[in-house]
Amino acid sequence: QEPILEVDNLHTHFFTKSGVVKAVDGVSFSVKPGETLGIVGESGSGKSITAMSIMRLIKDPPGKIVEGGLTFKGEDLLAKSEKEMRSIRGDRISMIFQDPMTSLNPVFTVEKQMVETIRAHRNVSKKQAIDRAVELLELVGIPSPRSRLKSYPHEFSGGMRQRVMIALALSCDPEVLIADEPTTALDVTIQAQILELLGRLQKELGMAIVMITHDLGVVAEVCDRVMVMYAGKPVEFAEVTELFDHPKHPYTWGLIGSIPNMENRQERLEAIKGLPPDLRALPEGCSFAPRCKHAMDKCQSKDPDFKEESAGHQVRCLLYEEEEVAVK
Ligand code: SF4
Ligand code: MG
Repeated sequence: QEPILEVDNLHTHFFTKSGVVKAVDGVSFSVKPGETLGIVGESGSGKSITAMSIMRLIKDPPGKIVEGGLTFKGEDLLAKSEKEMRSIRGDRISMIFQDPMTSLNPVFTVEKQMVETIRAHRNVSKKQAIDRAVELLELVGIPSPRSRLKSYPHEFSGGMRQRVMIALALSCDPEVLIADEPTTALDVTIQAQILELLGRLQKELGMAIVMITHDLGVVAEVCDRVMVMYAGKPVEFAEVTELFDHPKHPYTWGLIGSIPNMENRQERLEAIKGLPPDLRALPEGCSFAPRCKHAMDKCQSKDPDFKEESAGHQVRCLLYEEEEVAVK
């Protein structure tokens, strides 16, 4: 099956007074219809900027896609005008966020927002749009949806509001759904319900999902393949089972060690000490070196390449260079 979305060597930089922030610096991946690709990393690793770049929502200035390609169903997204992008966003590629109020307007009823979105992209009557809204709210599990149409976003609980946002994002049957930390703000039970809902909707609607998260637990539950990002660059890429069975990058080891256990979700087993580097002044060698327990002398001066270590499994780390033996 052909990929529906391809990101090729994407570089998105921000030109600030204090220097160039290389927020995304060489990201490549593709995603097929029906597939869920995870992008995982700490905040500031470039996950959200990758998503915003795909949506062409980077504000210029100070941000700019300085290099790379974005292809959606064979069409070059970087060549699209803002008007063309407006018709793609929310229709063929949709996005959901951690905070539903990013996409829901507090002063309008759910009906008004859904009807407007549907009619912006589809040539249907108001009544048809209302029926579609009811159908969507039902699809995402809002009880007695017709009676909730006149409600305002704040009249829903956090989990229900997240469902309304998902309904809005799905209102035009997108082929790609980009989900940026969609469950981060929710408690564990609601989080599981929302992930299950997304999985079910994906099966029913066949869309591709790009799932952005800082939580490898979420990745384990919903993703097929995963890219681990650190300081704007991919550091590891593999199928999910392969990543959990044979993680190769020291940063991934830390992330796996920090998955909260089921008894106490707050407990971090092995947090990764230290902070991500300043993206305006990256270390000369490996960006992860200041925090890496396995750093060697050469890591201070040599920036590792991103290389395939085994079939479909790429890693950026000098532990795998030449005759170096990996130690875990
Ligand atoms: Fe650690 Fe060196 Fe690998 Fe970077 S290249 S992750 S510092 S071992
Ligand atoms: Mg983010």
